[in-house]
Amino acid sequence: MKIYMNGKLVDEQKAVVSVFDHGLLYGDGVFEGIRAYGGRVFMLEEHIDRLYRSAKAIAMDIPMSKAEMARAVVKTCAANRIKDGYIRLVVTRGVGTLGLNPFTCKEPQVIIIAAAIQLYPKKLYETGMSIVTVGTTRNQAEAVNPRIKSLNYLNNVLAKIEAINAGVMECIMLNSQGYIAEASGDNVFIVRGKTLVTPPSWCGALEGITRAVVMQLAPRHGLEVREDVLTRYDLYTADEMFLTGTAAEIISVVDVDRRKIGDGKPGRVTRELARLFHAFAQSSGTPIR
Ligand code: PMP
Repeated sequence: MKIYMNGKLVDEQKAVVSVFDHGLLYGDGVFEGIRAYGGRVFMLEEHIDRLYRSAKAIAMDIPMSKAEMARAVVKTCAANRIKDGYIRLVVTRGVGTLGLNPFTCKEPQVIIIAAAIQLYPKKLYETGMSIVTVGTTRNQAEAVNPRIKSLNYLNNVLAKIEAINAGVMECIMLNSQGYIAEASGDNVFIVRGKTLVTPPSWCGALEGITRAVVMQLAPRHGLEVREDVLTRYDLYTADEMFLTGTAAEIISVVDVDRRKIGDGKPGRVTRELARLFHAFAQSSGTPIR
C-alpha cells in the first residue's frame, strides 16, 4: 500500500510519524473519513471544506491549498487502485517540543491512507442494530467543540467502550443537558410519520456529510426534515430510527435501551432512504484518475 505523506507517496513501512508529533503527544490535529464508490471520491469537496474548517478552529494552517489536497486524495486512490474504498485524511500539528505549545511545531503533517472499507457486518443492515445510551456525555461545545473533527477522539472512545461493555456495537451520547447529541461515530435521525428529525449541531453533533446528504435527498421524496432538540423519550417512541456516517452509510436502529423501535425491524422510510443514498453515491463524485 502506498501512503501519501507530505507531498510524496511512500511505502506503508516507510509511512511513519515522529514521536514528537503533537498529533501523537496531544491528539492535536484534524482528520476526515471519505468514501470512494465506483471509481469516484464521494463528497470530496465537502470533506475537504470540513477539514479546513476543523483546522481553522484549532488555529492550524494546512500547508497546501484545498485544490492541492483534493488532487492528493485522488492521486492516493489512483496509486492504490482504489475503486470502492475508505480514505483517511489526517493532518497532525507536526513535530514540536514536548510542551503543549502548538506554535513550537514546525509544519503540519499531511497523511492520506486509501484502503478497503470495513463496514458493520452485512447482516446488521438487514436486521437493524440494537444500541444503548451511555453515561459518557458528549464534549461541551466550549470545551472541545464536537463540530471540530479532531484527532482527540477519547470522548467518543470512552462512549464506545460503554457500548461494547453493554454488548452492542454503537451507542447514543447525550450532551451535558441530557439531550441527544449523536452516536460515538455517527449522526442520529428519528422518523415520525413523514418527518425526519435530527439534533442540531449545537446539541453536540458533528455536521456529518452523510447527514447533509440525507437532509438534501429527503425533501425531494416527500419527507420533511427538521433539526430539533431530542430526548431519550423521542428515541424510544419514534416510528423509526437510523444512524448516518461515511463508513456506516445509513443503518437502521431497531432497539434502544431495550425499547423496541417501531415494530423492531428496519422501517420503510429508512430502507427507502438507504436505497436513495446508494443510488446517489454511485452516481456522483470526483473521478479517480
Ligand atoms: N459523528 C461523529 C462523532 C463522527 O466521527 C462521524 C464520522 N464517522 C459522524 C458523526 C458522521 O459524519 P460523516 O457523515 O461526515 O462521516
